[in-house]
Amino acid sequence: MCGVMGYAGPEQAAPILLDGLRKLEYRGYDSAGMAVLNDGSIEVKKCRGRLQLLSNLTHDGQDMPGHIGIGHTRWATHGEPSDENSHPHLSNSGRFAIVHNGIIENYQALKDKLISRGYTFHSETDTEVIANMIEYYDQGDLVQTLIKVLHRLEGSYALGVLSVAEPDHFVAVRKDSPLIVGRGEGENFIASDIPAVLNRTRDVYLMGDNEIAVVAADGVRFFNMDAEEVEKDIYHVEWDVSAAEKGGYEHFMMKEIMEQPKALRDTIKPRIKNGRFVLDDLKFDADWLNSLGRIYIVGCGSAYHAGRIGKDLIEKMLSIPVEVDIASEFRYRNPLLGPDQLVIIISQSGETADTLAALREAKKHGARTLGIVNVVGSSIAREADYVLYTWAGPEIAVATTKAYTCQIAALEILTAYLGQETGRLSDDQLQRLQADLLSLPVLLKDQLERPEDVQYLASQFFNCKDIFFIGRALDYSLTLEGSLKLKEISYIHSEASAAGELKHGTISLIQKGTLVIALVTQPRLREKMISNIREVKARGAVVLAVALEDDSAIADTADYVIRIPHVSPDLEPIAGIIPLQLFAYYVAALNGNDVDKPRNLAKSVTVE
Ligand code: GLU
Repeated sequence: MCGVMGYAGPEQAAPILLDGLRKLEYRGYDSAGMAVLNDGSIEVKKCRGRLQLLSNLTHDGQDMPGHIGIGHTRWATHGEPSDENSHPHLSNSGRFAIVHNGIIENYQALKDKLISRGYTFHSETDTEVIANMIEYYDQGDLVQTLIKVLHRLEGSYALGVLSVAEPDHFVAVRKDSPLIVGRGEGENFIASDIPAVLNRTRDVYLMGDNEIAVVAADGVRFFNMDAEEVEKDIYHVEWDVSAAEKGGYEHFMMKEIMEQPKALRDTIKPRIKNGRFVLDDLKFDADWLNSLGRIYIVGCGSAYHAGRIGKDLIEKMLSIPVEVDIASEFRYRNPLLGPDQLVIIISQSGETADTLAALREAKKHGARTLGIVNVVGSSIAREADYVLYTWAGPEIAVATTKAYTCQIAALEILTAYLGQETGRLSDDQLQRLQADLLSLPVLLKDQLERPEDVQYLASQFFNCKDIFFIGRALDYSLTLEGSLKLKEISYIHSEASAAGELKHGTISLIQKGTLVIALVTQPRLREKMISNIREVKARGAVVLAVALEDDSAIADTADYVIRIPHVSPDLEPIAGIIPLQLFAYYVAALNGNDVDKPRNLAKSVTVE
């Protein structure tokens, strides 16, 4: 979901676009391309793979003459990474070219309409629809036309648009995807992020949602959705490049923690349409679905923890038995697999070696497989019978945050969908789930606006030797993830224990001053947790509780409390993990660790 760049100025555009796209490489991408306006036509060069390939293809851009152009690095969401699916996309006549970062949620309906009006499509992307809509609604003025099109788009976008009829400028707009305009001396730019323009200018305009920029060499004009010209303030960038890459945060991990509301929204919203859960890619046949006897969920590390939450949800809501397995165990333990079973395979990268092997094992025994993956076109996405993508965007920090919460969201959506298709969930239940899921990103956004409380607590405990986590049911799965996050990046020894299990062994490690983090987010288990907190306090533990915002009485028992918003208990694991991510982050940062690249760990584990 990834990099957009545009240039209008006296120099040849293509080499400058390549240079800007290189500065956006940190955002992750799978293909790249450029479109340049020259002599009344638009030339496009694009290919799957690294930017270096695009650079080779165009002799560092030298082969593409022209002074106005747009460029793109793509992180595939709709259609696998391929030359055809790479951006820019041309409209059918070739008169318009666009680059797009984001997701058009209603693209299928728009595409069907355009096909019925005679348009043809050359890619599987949601983006190509926009190029043809611009052509379809063209009235001779690109800003006016674009406004018409924007009114019909649902989803997120940062767009750059070239038109052969308007050779002096290009047009750009954003909604829920990042975009800035760089103002130089006799040259102007657009980019997804500030580092792309920093070697040419430090003066930028920060684009607001649905503000339209008309970018020419000699100036930039801004318009609102009523096509009225508006003034914008210049922002002078003082940061250095590396701070800018991280959006002003010190580490990618923090940036990614903060991106969770958007990642969740992108993952949830397109799957709820007209009061129904819509998973177009899952073409289950009804007989098989109704005879579904058992579900396995398989993953490694955090994906396994997300799977544990999926098990609780599916068993509770659908009454279908679910087993959750660590992939490296599943593949060697001879699970009882058969055709009436669904094996859900979870992996951010879609390349995790053990998880991929588990998928193959399941297929060999005739079970159907469904991948929940973040990387479009990855091995698991290609080999699984069905795919449900998390649209978290690329994740750079090794310790997963946004991809993990999106995996839980995907499992929630899948559970709801299975309930809807089999009639196991009532209309009322489905409506409630939809409302809860749709309101979640907003609640999390509020929650993330106040990280200081967690930062303060981390400053009290960052030099602990051991930290224990306790919780029950869904909260127990959260403790596993919270403890793993802490171990991964802080290198502090930590254990997670089911709260009721503690007294069967681990409690012997609790002594005066030991920090115990207790998750108390499930109202039905609150009293049990209070008893467990008392048990560890009686052995001298200091207890930090993560509790619901309206549970004021928890402060009578716990020494410290972190509050989370009161969302439905089934979604609490998403709200509840955020303080644990932040805690791990701050503890690691206070210890001076390399938070984004912790020792001994790799982002994509492609060995067994
Ligand atoms: N959804 C678009 C696609 O799959 C844009 C992806 C991006 O933001 O790079 O092509």
